[in-house]
Amino acid sequence: MADLLALSTKIIDSGVLDQPANRIINEISELAPDLAVVESFSHAVTWSSPEGLVIFDTGTYDNGAHVADQIRTWTKAPLHAIVYTHGHVDHVGGSGPIAATLGTAGRKLRVIGHENVERRFTRYRDTSDWNRIINARQFGGVREEHGYGLVSDSSQVGARHPTFLHDSVLEVNESLGDFTSMKIGDDTVEFHHARGETDDHLWAFFPDRKWIVTGDFIIWNFPNAGNPQKVQRWPLEWASALRRMITQEPELLLPAHGLPIEGKNRIARVLDEIAAALENLVREVLQMMNAGETLDTIIHAVKVPDATLGRPYLRPMYDEPEFIVHNVWRQFGGWWDGAASRLKPAPDAAVGAEVAALAGGADVLVRRAQKLAEEGDLRLACHLADFAGWAAPDDPEVHGIRAEVYERRRKAELSLMAKGIFAAASKESKRINRR
Ligand SMILES: [Zn+2]
Repeated sequence: MADLLALSTKIIDSGVLDQPANRIINEISELAPDLAVVESFSHAVTWSSPEGLVIFDTGTYDNGAHVADQIRTWTKAPLHAIVYTHGHVDHVGGSGPIAATLGTAGRKLRVIGHENVERRFTRYRDTSDWNRIINARQFGGVREEHGYGLVSDSSQVGARHPTFLHDSVLEVNESLGDFTSMKIGDDTVEFHHARGETDDHLWAFFPDRKWIVTGDFIIWNFPNAGNPQKVQRWPLEWASALRRMITQEPELLLPAHGLPIEGKNRIARVLDEIAAALENLVREVLQMMNAGETLDTIIHAVKVPDATLGRPYLRPMYDEPEFIVHNVWRQFGGWWDGAASRLKPAPDAAVGAEVAALAGGADVLVRRAQKLAEEGDLRLACHLADFAGWAAPDDPEVHGIRAEVYERRRKAELSLMAKGIFAAASKESKRINRR
């Protein structure tokens, strides 16, 4: 077993992340005599209560049996309850295999979650093809790199990201609202709801033991509050939840991704830094919105300081601040970005064709894109590559160059989400190029 607390203490106190903090290794580590964590796609934080095992999050369907096997190497206790910190598929997907493997010794399994989880599951079923498409794109841009939070080495068990809600996922049978305090054995467990990454999030606090189970409020990456392909995220509410956690004075923090953290002051410092990063970002965006600025101006003006992004638990390797700016705009404004021509735009193909004609052809345009990309102006290069691609939707050469431009863009990006979308653009043009 790895000493996860020693590792996280070393990383946090030194400020140096010299090894991956998000590890999808399906290995169990004991943190206290009756507490362990299996590091998986989402971790399974496992408490061996007097009533039986209480497992916070389950990892994916593919990993569920491996997670259960790891728990069995640690204890033979039956399963008492599964808690979903939220309804994302990498947190609930393993519930069926875990329940089947661990068993409940004849008692009914409690499946605890926030009341919005059911609504999420309905939405996933209504939009399952869409969710497959966006998840394939989101996770399709990174390969062997480590430390991306939800991605692992492809040689590892179950590395593939789940793209849909598996049929075996267990429904919540104890729906909680804003706050619930319950006894399990002699321990009080408090469940708090807050919006952050999702609108169905719970975090749990054990007041006697000072343990806090945070779900995705802590992910050892810059908060996933901007995701370009997903529904609304809640950065300011996320920060408030972190502030509320600090007031509980936890001594052991158990996140669903990344390393557990020990020590009241160390935990408070981490929570405060993440909350402040979100609060500052939202405040700056709102100030500019109040001043009547457009989204364009705000995106290019609001930046998170490099020193903040360099913190071991704030690196923009999964989501990134620029995407959060968009989400704040959407949360407090509308979908229109402030450029009049984009309120009721012409078709992309018509704009592309007109710009290509003015430039002297789609080939001229895409070569200019290539030049700009080589010179390092990848943002501008991608606009011209898109115009050219729209103007010549079947031209193999134009799309060959567009594919190159987007491949270069993918490599230059840090975040998994940007890499994924640019990789998909490159692949789309490669397919036309190979025809
Ligand atoms: Zn997660």
